[in-house]
Amino acid sequence: MALHIAFIAHDRMKDEMVNFVTAYQHVFAEGHQLYATGTTGQRIIDKTGLKIHRFMSGPLGGDQQIGALVAQNIMDLIIFLRDPLMAQPHEPDITALLRLCDVQGIPLATNVATAELLVRAMERGEFGWREVVHKYKAGNEE
Ligand code: PGA
Repeated sequence: MALHIAFIAHDRMKDEMVNFVTAYQHVFAEGHQLYATGTTGQRIIDKTGLKIHRFMSGPLGGDQQIGALVAQNIMDLIIFLRDPLMAQPHEPDITALLRLCDVQGIPLATNVATAELLVRAMERGEFGWREVVHKYKAGNEE
């Protein structure tokens, strides 16, 4: 099943994100629709060659663009490596994105340990319930 997956990493977390996505590249390359904020996406593309739709940089509205897809219940998984030790100028956008994930009940990892558990669940096909959500939405939109 093709999932919609978004990657966001704050500056000091970008190396960790690139390493993580590289380690699980075989999973992410399985026909999923990948998205990222601008710089995070570019860093992942440079290292892995994965096909990723890049939105604006986070501080310029990228979190909000990803949030729009969460609000529409299109996103299936968000991996958001926040910097827990550094204040961000776009804190309100970050909070808004986290809130929308909770509104829609979207799996959201904010550290690599959680991200790893979610990706392993993906590998085992445990995101099938998201397919049901997409089918239900498509049925309602007909
Ligand atoms: P970036 O945005 O990937 O463009 O750096 C993420 C962020 O820092 O919020």
